[in-house]
Amino acid sequence: MELGLYLHFPYCISKCPYCDFNSYQLKEDNKISSYISALHQEIAAYSQKLKKSNIKTIYLGGGTPTILSGTQIFNILEFCKENFMVEKDAEITIEANPGTVDGEKIKLLIDSGINRLSLGAQSFNNMFLKKLGRIHNTQEIIDSYYLAREAGFKNINIDIMFALPDQTTEDLQVTLKKAVSLKSDHLSLYNLTIKPGTEYYKEYKRGKLKLPTEDEEYDMFNWAINYLEENGFEHYEISNFARPHNRSEHNLIYWQNKPYLGVGAGAYSFIRGYRYMNYEEPARYIKEVTSGKSPIEDGEKLSLRKRMIETIILGLRTKDGVIYKKFITRFKVDINNTFHKQIKKLVNLGLLQRDDNRIKLTRKGIFLADTVFREFVG
Ligand code: SF4
Repeated sequence: MELGLYLHFPYCISKCPYCDFNSYQLKEDNKISSYISALHQEIAAYSQKLKKSNIKTIYLGGGTPTILSGTQIFNILEFCKENFMVEKDAEITIEANPGTVDGEKIKLLIDSGINRLSLGAQSFNNMFLKKLGRIHNTQEIIDSYYLAREAGFKNINIDIMFALPDQTTEDLQVTLKKAVSLKSDHLSLYNLTIKPGTEYYKEYKRGKLKLPTEDEEYDMFNWAINYLEENGFEHYEISNFARPHNRSEHNLIYWQNKPYLGVGAGAYSFIRGYRYMNYEEPARYIKEVTSGKSPIEDGEKLSLRKRMIETIILGLRTKDGVIYKKFITRFKVDINNTFHKQIKKLVNLGLLQRDDNRIKLTRKGIFLADTVFREFVG
């Protein structure tokens, strides 16, 4: 079996007001060492069960994994290599927040075998960075970027958010022009969504956040897709753009609905048709693991129908779409028969296009992807 390995680090320097990820402001440094011990224990527990699996990619995400010291990150990856069969040319990504890396740490990241850096820039406008509660400013993004480049990172992603409160298309244009001028290898572009439980949600409910209208958001995204494509990026997934040969291998595992193992608080896994999730809260996760129990809180064996629907929804997120032959090989049924009604309706609405090999989203379908996905879920 081939696997992607995800390692979750739930701590951040501060909690951004829009963030609903499984992340917490780090108040006591000693939490990190007990969390790392638990991670080691969980990895060791999997090593026997998965010793014949090839790890094709590793992704250190969070939270802010770079809140750890370079040595801690180095040791975790060494431990992964001792316990799993990590492929020699595995893509190993770390998410990094500008302001949490310096020259020494970057060097240790490279020495650990990390070959892809994902920089959480979010904006190149200091006013928006401040409103987003980010700990860095524009200059720190640029400094971190060049630090990584000069240290030898050949594959750098920049994360940008749009549809921010009070943001105009012109504001986004300035940010994307700056991001493109850095010549990163990959760019992720996510629209801000207001999630329950966040500070932004409370402000939004009190009428304090002025968000762009749907039409304005459409204009921003449309402009961004055209601009990034004109500048050599391939729009290969709804929110992701890559220079040639720089698609994210790890994320492709998710979008192709292939198996992955998630380790750490709240991490999801999908192995042999089972989807399961660890306890979210780090203290609970640590308690379960260190007392020798499984940290899995919940899981289910996905029915064939559910796996087919997930494969379609995830595949449609990508430019490659869903390829008929691959679908038949995997599920032994023809997608055009089993989902005939949904496909016909979505093609007629101009949201899906089909040719002899595949179905994929149209440009209109990309903007209305949720409507398309709902049609398959039924
Ligand atoms: S740095 Fe990232 S994970 Fe941490 S609070 Fe901000 S958005 Fe969430």
